[in-house]
Formats: sequence, structure tokens, C-alpha cells
Amino acid sequence: MAAPRVAVVGAGVIGLSTALCITETCPSCSVTILSEQFSPNTTSDVAAGMLIPHTYPGTPIHVQKQWFKETFTYLFAISNSPEASEAGIHLVSGWQVFKNTPKEELPFWSDVVLGFRPMSEAELQKFPQHRCGQAFTTLKCDCPPYLLWLEKRLKATGVQMYTRKVADLWELHREYHVVVNCAGIGAHQLVGDEKLFPVRGQVLKVHAPWVKNFIRDGDGLTYIYPGIHRVTLGGTREKENWSLTPDPGTTKDIFDRCCSFEPSLQGAQDIKVKVGLRPSRQCVRLQREVWSQGGVKLPVVHNYGHGAGGFSVHRGTAKEAAHLVGECIAALQGSSLKAKL
Ligand code: FAD
Repeated sequence: MAAPRVAVVGAGVIGLSTALCITETCPSCSVTILSEQFSPNTTSDVAAGMLIPHTYPGTPIHVQKQWFKETFTYLFAISNSPEASEAGIHLVSGWQVFKNTPKEELPFWSDVVLGFRPMSEAELQKFPQHRCGQAFTTLKCDCPPYLLWLEKRLKATGVQMYTRKVADLWELHREYHVVVNCAGIGAHQLVGDEKLFPVRGQVLKVHAPWVKNFIRDGDGLTYIYPGIHRVTLGGTREKENWSLTPDPGTTKDIFDRCCSFEPSLQGAQDIKVKVGLRPSRQCVRLQREVWSQGGVKLPVVHNYGHGAGGFSVHRGTAKEAAHLVGECIAALQGSSLKAKL
């Protein structure tokens, strides 16, 4: 079999990292990315990019932990290299605070992040409305720079990238041996997945370089995440809302909520409002299947539905998707060998 041709549909953090893992695990593959949008116009560009996992109720916890650990280890190495500032990856310390004692004292990811511990009484004085909290250090991706860094690495390994809206994955069967679906919320239409739904998120990206620590309300709704150049203030979680138009009332509400945690944000400048649709599902769809029409077969690997936690687990799920692509290629090579015998 000639070099297997693999098409990855989607150029958010999931598509780009999956394509990169495929080039690493299958160097003989010719990989092409086809996407309707590239950075800075994807949901991944809107995200805060914090490595704090979101829990997928339909996926075993040990699997989610493995995905998070692989992602953390990968990004920690980048943060500790000369590439860190170009890739937009940095360590950030801060607090997650609770009004009531949380159900689980130790979240499953507590031994993956660094220095996880209960907050001290002195730290809690900063948050008079809150009863307890957790202090830790994690990683943050500055999203557009990280996506551009991934694109640069892909181009250096010979991956081709084309702007193209794919109406049906089947249309790719003549040109490619394997198709990988990383279309995010686009998979709702692309493969008719009714289990996938948008959770709209509105955030503010502000200039407030004096804010150095992250603050997250335990319910996950209000957060302040300092990045290299901007601080992300959030947020909202609106299930089944497809609107990408910023809402001015929500902007004010987010700003007021964040200022109640960090009053110095009153002095924030250059406030930009962004909206994204989290591609949400009970579980990430990481699955290999074979499509067939009139005796013609097309192996398809799905990797979408990362909801509120795509950055936190992207490397782990990309590795698993690349492994599934390897299985598809091995099966194709097996069948072409059988055909020759
Ligand atoms: P996307 O980034 O949406 O990429 C999908 C790609 O597929 C796009 O390039 C699109 O153009 C393409 N596409 C779609 N349909 C087609 C088609 N038919 N043909 C061709 N191309 C197609 N996660 C975290 O881990 N930490 C955070 O702090 C965090 N904060 C967030 C804050 C907000 C406000 C939001 C909205 C999300 C946040 N997330 C966070 C979640 C994270 O953004 C997502 O899980 C992640 O971006 C999903 O990546 P993706 O590549 O699957 O989707």
C-alpha cells in the first residue's frame, strides 16, 4: 500500500493536536487538514485554555484522568522549554473557592496538578463570601498562540491544510484512506449526532497585567484566568443556545461578578467580548467505525464532543485517536495483502 492518506476534518485544538499525533505515530502517513475555519475563528480560540478538567459523566474517571495526565505532562514539558512563550503555555497558581464544602474533597485530578492543598485561613480572608477552597498550580494555554504553534509544527512535518467545508465525510472516500472527524460542534450537522449539543459561553478578554493568580468559583461559573497578555473573565453556560452574538447584559454581569472577587479589575482596560459554543456530550466520542456504500469502505475515526474541557484533555484524546487511525491503517494493509495473495 502507498503512503496512507489521512484527512482530518477540523482545525480547533482537537483537530490540530490529533493531526500532530498521527504524524508522530504514523510517520509514513500523508496527513491533510480540511477545515471550514482556522485560528483565530474557532471555538478553541475563544476558550480560556485552563487545565482544570471538566467531568464527562459517560466516561470512566480513570480514562479521564489518563487523558488529563497525558495533556498536563505534554504541556508541562513545553512550559519548561525555550518554546514556552511562542507556544503560549505557562504555569499559573491560584484558588478555587466554595461557599459550601464540596461533595468530593479531592477531585480526581488533584494529584496531577502541582501542590494541591486546602486553602489557609489567611488566604480565605481574600474571599469573605466563601467558606473553603483549594490552592494549586496548573497550566494555561494562551489559545490563539498555541493553535498557531501547532499549525507551525504541522506545516514543518509536511501536513497540508485547506479551507473547506465538508458536507458529508463520505465525499472524501476517493481521495483519502482514513477520515478523522474533529469537527467540534460542527459534528452535529456533519454526522447528525443528536447527542451533541452546544453550551454557549461568553467571556471577556481584558488588559489587567497586575492580576497574576487565577480565581475560580467552585460552581465553575465565575472565573478569572490570567494569561500571558490578557486576563479571561467568565463566564456563562447556556445549554442548547446556538447564538454567537455577545449579549451586553451578560457582559456587565460577568464583569460585576469578577470584580466582586477581584475589585482591582475595575481598572481593567481594552475589554473584548467573545462567544463560543462548547461541543457538549455525555462523553467524548472517540470511536473507530467503517462506513460502507456499494462495497466501497471508508474507515472513520471520531474525536469530538469535548464540551467545557477540550484543552484539559486534548493531548490524551489525540493520542487515542491516532492509535485508532493506526488500527484502521493496519486493517487496510491486512486487507490489501489478502487481496494480493
Ligand atoms: P473547535 O475549536 O470548534 O474546532 C472545530 C473545527 O471543526 C473548526 O475548525 C471548524 O471550522 C471545523 N468544522 C466544523 N464543521 C466542519 C465541517 N462540516 N467541515 C469542515 N470543518 C468543519 N476548555 C478547557 O479545557 N479549559 C478552558 O479553560 C476552557 N474554557 C472555555 C471557555 C469558553 C467560553 C468556551 C466556549 C470553551 C472553553 N473550553 C475550555 C472548551 C474548549 O474550548 C473546547 O472543548 C474545545 O475548543 C473544542 O475543540 P474542538 O477542536 O473540538 O472544536
